[in-house]
Amino acid sequence: MRAEILDGKSTAAKARSRIAEEVAQWVAGGGAIPTLAAVLVGDDPASQVYVRNKEKACQKAGMQSRLIRQPDSTTTEQLLDLLAQLNLAPEVHGILVQLPLPKQIDTQSVLDAVDPIKDVDAFAPENVGLLVQGRPRYLPCTPHGIVHLLAEYRIETLGKHVVIVGRSDIVGKPLANMLVQRDAGLGKSFANATVTVCHSQSENLASITRSADILVAAVGRPKLVTADMVKLGSVVIDVGINRVEDQIVGDVDFDSVCEVAAAITPVPGGIGPLTIAMLLRNTLNAAKLQAIQQP
Ligand code: NAD
Repeated sequence: MRAEILDGKSTAAKARSRIAEEVAQWVAGGGAIPTLAAVLVGDDPASQVYVRNKEKACQKAGMQSRLIRQPDSTTTEQLLDLLAQLNLAPEVHGILVQLPLPKQIDTQSVLDAVDPIKDVDAFAPENVGLLVQGRPRYLPCTPHGIVHLLAEYRIETLGKHVVIVGRSDIVGKPLANMLVQRDAGLGKSFANATVTVCHSQSENLASITRSADILVAAVGRPKLVTADMVKLGSVVIDVGINRVEDQIVGDVDFDSVCEVAAAITPVPGGIGPLTIAMLLRNTLNAAKLQAIQQP
């Protein structure tokens, strides 16, 4: 078997042009230009690239982006002050704090300080809770990107066993929360899964992953998932972004797994571009929600 490649880049481009059309309609109808404020602390090269890509994507979609750079020595209190200002700024609809933050900063307090209505990453406890209850305000960007890609290729999750390796608050847990719903906003066929979440303490990982109809790797370890861990004819989603000798590789041993899986996402060009597209979607939705809430 040679796996079909699930093309995240072209799927994201399509999603972005649809969002750009919606932004143009919204603005033509008198809506405020959706604006994303990105807070970047320090000079981590990878973070700078991510933020630049998000900014460019905003501009291409007809949205505005504001980059707020802070020095590496910034304190938690200074960041909390900055976020309080951004929360109050009516022209800012979405706020994202690029992670990781420098060690001296209390990341959880900083993330908690983003007004949930502007929380386009969907990290706030209120937004997580709404998702868990099946009435999401914003869908988390990377999980949304994954389900969007599956939907684009008509790979249904209804009744399927989805195994997620990794239990982070950014990918593993929110993806599980989306897929167990009756409908997370993309239709019943792209929810209603039987979900297993594996992590660093899971025993017999390979025997669990081999039972997956859809296997999602979100660990951050190059080539963790090898062909012997994958069921013949399954779908493999590689979320990992790892730098190995100046190359970006995923968590899946792509070449060997291609011989077993029916479909697979590449790295790069898989889930990464979709994450950005879904951030734009949330920023547009945030602008619309805030327009309704204004007195
Ligand atoms: P994280 O570091 O927060 O969590 C990693 C998870 O992997 C943990 O839950 C841990 O329990 C689990 N784990 C570690 N070793 C394991 C092992 N040997 N077996 C099973 N589970 C193990 O990671 P994260 O923030 O979810 O990111 C994971 C990867 O996805 C990283 O490479 C990151 O760069 C990438 N990522 C990509 C996107 C994207 O848009 N494509 C978005 C977010 C994260």
